[in-house]
Amino acid sequence: MNLMVFGAPGAGKGTQAKFLIEKYNIPQISTGDILRAAISEQTDMGMEAKKFMDEGKLVPDSTIIGIIKDRLAQDDCKSGFILDGFPRTLPQAEALKTLMDDMKISLDKVISLNVPDELIVGRITGRRVCPGCGASFHVEFNPSKIKDVCDYCGDKLVIRKDDNAETVKSRLGAYHAQTAPLIEFYTNMGVMVELDGTKDVSEVTKDMFNSLS
Ligand code: ADP
Ligand code: ADP
Ligand code: ZN
Repeated sequence: MNLMVFGAPGAGKGTQAKFLIEKYNIPQISTGDILRAAISEQTDMGMEAKKFMDEGKLVPDSTIIGIIKDRLAQDDCKSGFILDGFPRTLPQAEALKTLMDDMKISLDKVISLNVPDELIVGRITGRRVCPGCGASFHVEFNPSKIKDVCDYCGDKLVIRKDDNAETVKSRLGAYHAQTAPLIEFYTNMGVMVELDGTKDVSEVTKDMFNSLS
């Protein structure tokens, strides 16, 4: 199964991707997580990407496409994968299409989580993430079982540097200008599923699995 979770920053992509991993036993490929790992390892790529991420701007396509090309070539992607936060621009979507055509594979479904901008700010400012496994929680809407401790791996939860009210504005701007046009791209491809992402986490999960069965 080759899947993609799609939506605005904070729409719930990472949260729902965790349930897909458990059910289908395929890896989640989050470009945001890969970039944050490169930042903590202080690689050249990471240091360059950090400037864009801290300002809530998209990292250049050439960097992102290179990351995905390497990642999809790894063995664990052979049985499928869940793309999370990629693609975010039309050139990225076109590069993905070429890459997958070359690999003789195709996308089964794109799951779009629709959440209006008014709800995004509260989701992002209350988000707590796990540096260990990338899981995300919300202080109010989706709390971890033990405060500030990851349910999945036990690491201490942190607040992402870019999760503040100022950066959210530019990230939403980038989403509407550069990413939202992909809805039409994947609708035309016949793989788009649009879900109401404003429902509770468990309700969205139920709708998602229904759309896949
Ligand atoms: P994305 O990966 O799309 O940026 P996340 O999965 O990290 O989004 O979710 C953003 C924040 O919103 C997190 O704090 C998460 O716990 C919370 N969240 C996710 N899904 C829902 C939901 N259906 N209702 C309320 N809060 C949610
Ligand atoms: P969110 O969905 O909550 O915005 P991500 O973890 O997916 O968070 O992304 C964090 C940041 O990493 C983005 O704001 C952007 O700067 C960068 N980024 C991640 N994925 C991409 C991508 N596919 N193209 C360009 N920039 C990206
Ligand atoms: Zn964790």
